[in-house]
Order: sequence, then structure tokens, then C-alpha cells
Amino acid sequence: MLHPLIADPSATRHILKKFKLRAVKGLGQNFLIDADIVRKIVEAADICAGEEVLEIGAGIGTLTQGLLEAGAKVTAIELDKKLPAVLKETLAGYENFKLVEGDILKINLAELMPSKFKVAANLPYYITTQILLTLLEKNLPVTKIVTMVQKEVAERMTATPGSKIYGALSIAVQFRADAKIAFEVPPESFLPPPEVTSAVVVCDVRKPLFEVDEEFFFKVVRTAFAQRRKTLFNSLSSFGREKILASGIDGTRRAETLSLEEFAKLSTALKMQLAISNDQ
Ligand code: SAM
Repeated sequence: MLHPLIADPSATRHILKKFKLRAVKGLGQNFLIDADIVRKIVEAADICAGEEVLEIGAGIGTLTQGLLEAGAKVTAIELDKKLPAVLKETLAGYENFKLVEGDILKINLAELMPSKFKVAANLPYYITTQILLTLLEKNLPVTKIVTMVQKEVAERMTATPGSKIYGALSIAVQFRADAKIAFEVPPESFLPPPEVTSAVVVCDVRKPLFEVDEEFFFKVVRTAFAQRRKTLFNSLSSFGREKILASGIDGTRRAETLSLEEFAKLSTALKMQLAISNDQ
């Protein structure tokens, strides 16, 4: 069956008109209308035929179509109740497509995607961080996450120590993945165009490089970055100056200068110090 291409400005306008739809700003609806960008996302996801792919926010099926044409088995989650009827028509005839209606942040992903899968998505920007943390923190069998995000978020995801934008998100992403910006996407590639430039980030998910108590590690990271301009002695004062001194990490440094490895060292030492003082 020959499918008409959805990633095209006039096809997208036609579909929206036919179903009497308007992009809902509150749901982050900026539909891709650029076939070249769809092709580049699919290429970045490095899809093999029959591979399981989770798409977050199918919209009217634009990226979904690219993934299906590449041979992926796509499970797509979509929150907007008006879109299933559209997808039924735009993706009619594709066998490897499953739509799950609901909220990505409420669905049990471990149950939905029990075996190895990749993620490819043009994310709704209003919940980008929560989605990324959900995908990365829950020990899911995900191997690669290819997402369109705001350029500024892409830069924070891939930032390195010492830069002003290095923070809790950079650490959360890089704790579990090797992340890089694949390419930028201008507002004109979407309908309606967003107010910001976008970028596609590829995260190759791997095991964490350090063994830490993850809950405690991320608590230390979040606390340290909550007051990023302050020294560790100040931002982590709730742990006690003595415990920071004993960690071997210089307490006069700021959170933004610490590498992942140094955060791992700091959190492990703090945890040990806390255990010792609880025993006394
Ligand atoms: N994939 C389509 C494309 O590339 O044109 C649409 C991308 S649009 C940026 C984001 C999509 O995510 C919208 O279709 C929106 O309705 C959907 N969405 C928003 N919030 C969601 C949520 N919490 N769970 C699932 N989908 C959501």
C-alpha cells in the first residue's frame, strides 16, 4: 500500500482541516512538516527492521510514519483524545503500529515495553524533563533515546562541568547515557512554529559508570545545584561541614565544577559518614 507522506506542510494543513483540529498549545503540539527532519531522526535512531520503538506523542502520525517506513514496530502514546481517529486514517494499513491512549507520565512503561526498545520522539516541550527522567531513572530495557527538544534543553543535557548550564539534568542524563546533539531544527520545520530553536539529542543508554546509592546520589546532586552559586560547604550545609571535609572533595568548590565521578565520590562519602554518625 502506498501511503501519502504526512511530513509536508500542505498534507498536514489538509489533515488538520479535515478533522477540524487546531494545534493545542497546552499539549505542546508543534507538528513536524519537514520530511528531511523526519528522515534524519529515523536515521539517528538507527532502526533495524522489526525493532521495538516507543514514540511519545504521535500527533497526526508524522514521525510515526517515518519510523514505520523504516521497518520499526512502533508503540505510540498519545494524550489528545481527538488524535486516535486521525491516526486511524493517516496510518491505516501499517501493520506494526500500536496506539496507546494516555499520559506518558502515568503509563507503566515497564509493563508496556518489557523487552529491549528504543525511543524516538518529538517531545511535548512542557514536560521534557519529566519525560527524560522517567525514561532514564526507571531501569527500563531502553537502549537508545532520540528526542527532539528545545535547543537550550539539548545543551543542558549534554553540558560538561564548568559550564554555566551544567546541572542536575546534565548529570541525570549522563549518569545513564552517552548523550550528544545530532542536529538543530529551525522553527519553520513545525506547524505551528515554536518560539524556540529545537535540537535532536541522541542518548545511547548504558549502565551507570559508578556504583552509588542512586536515591542518595541524586539527592546530593539536587541539593548542591539548588544553590549553584554557593560553595558546597553552603549548599550542602545540611549534611554538616565536617562530613564534606571528610569526603576528600574541596568544600569551597561549587556544584557546577564537579564531574559525575566527583559527585559519586562525594555522595558515597557523605552516606558513609551519615551511617557512622547514626551508629554512634
Ligand atoms: N510526533 C508528532 C510530530 O512530530 O509531528 C507530534 C509531536 S508534538 C511536539 C507532541 C505530541 O505529544 C502532541 O501530539 C501532544 O498531543 C502529545 N502529548 C502531549 N502531552 C502528552 C502526554 N502527557 N502524554 C502523551 N502524549 C502527549
